[in-house]
Amino acid sequence: MEVKAMSVSAANISSLGSGATIPVAYYPKDIEQLRQIQRRHAARSRLFIAGALSNTLVLEMTPDDATIFCSAMRGIRVHEDCITVRAGEKTAHVADVARICGLSGMEDLCCIPGTVGGGVMGNAGCYDTAFKDVVKSVKLFHLDDGQQEELSGEEIAFRYRYCNLRKNVDFITEVTLRLFPDGVSAIGARMSDVRKKRKQTLPTGKSLGSVFKKIDGVSCGYYLDRLGIKGRRIGGMQVSEKHAGIIVNRGDGTPEEYLALVELCESEIQKATGRKPEREVVIFGRNQ
Ligand SMILES: Cc1cc2nc3c(=O)[nH]c(=O)nc-3n(C[C@H](O)[C@H](O)[C@H](O)COP(=O)(O)OP(=O)(O)OC[C@H]3O[C@@H](n4cnc5c(N)ncnc54)[C@H](O)[C@@H]3O)c2cc1C
Repeated sequence: MEVKAMSVSAANISSLGSGATIPVAYYPKDIEQLRQIQRRHAARSRLFIAGALSNTLVLEMTPDDATIFCSAMRGIRVHEDCITVRAGEKTAHVADVARICGLSGMEDLCCIPGTVGGGVMGNAGCYDTAFKDVVKSVKLFHLDDGQQEELSGEEIAFRYRYCNLRKNVDFITEVTLRLFPDGVSAIGARMSDVRKKRKQTLPTGKSLGSVFKKIDGVSCGYYLDRLGIKGRRIGGMQVSEKHAGIIVNRGDGTPEEYLALVELCESEIQKATGRKPEREVVIFGRNQ
C-alpha cells in the first residue's frame, strides 16, 4: 500500500502539549512503506525519525523537512525468555506484557513514556536499568541507502542516555529484549514500587522528562535547585517546582519559550560548574 504524507501538530502528539506543525509526517507500517519514503526523500529532504515525541521538542520546520514516526509499527512476539517488539510499541506496554508472561528485566522501565524505538535510541533508563541491559538485538533500516541490518546488543555502543546508532539515519524497526523468568506477582510488586517512587518525585504536568543528562553522576536538577531556578518561568513554560530538572508546560507554553528556558538553565549551570550540560531532550526543526 502506498504510504501517504500528512501534516500534523506536534502539540497534539508530544507529552509537552506544545510543538510546531510537522508539515510532512509519515506513519509507515512496514519496511516496504519505509522504502517508499526513503526513495521519495533520500538526498532531497532533511529527515527526522520520531517515536511518541516524549523526549523531543519540535521547532518550526521547513516544507522540505519530513518526519517519519515509528508509532504505527506494532507487534509483540514472546519466545522463550525473549520478547521481540516492533519499534512503535510503547515501553510501558511491553513492560506490562513481560510481567504477564512472567519475564523480569523491564520493571524499572515500566513508567518511561514513549516507544521502544525512542527508548533504545536514547538508551532510556530509570533507577538500576537502562535499555542497554535488556537489548539482545536491533533491526535497522538505513534511510541513506535503504539497506537493512541486524545488530546484537553487544555490537551497539551504549552509554549513559546514548547509543552510537546514527540519529535520523538508522531507523530502528524491531528490537528483541532478553529477559529472565520470575514470578508474575514478584514482578508486579516491583513495578508497583517503581510507580510509587516515581509518583513521589516527578511532576505530573506536561513535560519532556529530564532536560539535561547528569554531570558526573549529579543531576542538573540539583544544581538548578541550589541556584534558585526552581519555579522560574518564561511565558507558559516553567522549571518544575517539584523537580528542577524538568520543564513543565503550564498550559499555553510555546516551544520557543521551552528552548529559551533550556538556554537560561544551561548558562546558569555553566556559570556555576564551568561545564555546559548536555541536553537529554532532542530538538527537531529550525537549524537543528
Ligand atoms: C514524564 C516523563 C518521564 C520520563 N522519564 C524518563 C526516564 O525515567 N528515563 C528516561 O531515560 N527518559 C525519560 N523520559 C523521556 C522519554 O520518555 C524517553 O526518552 C523515551 O524513551 C522517548 O521515547 P519516544 O518514543 O517518545 O521518542 P522521541 O522523543 O520521539 O525520540 C527520541 C529520540 O529517539 C529517536 N527515535 C525515536 N524512534 C526511533 C526509531 N524507531 N529509530 C531510530 N530513532 C528513533 C528520535 O530521532 C530522537 O532522537 C521521560 C519523559 C516524560 C515526559
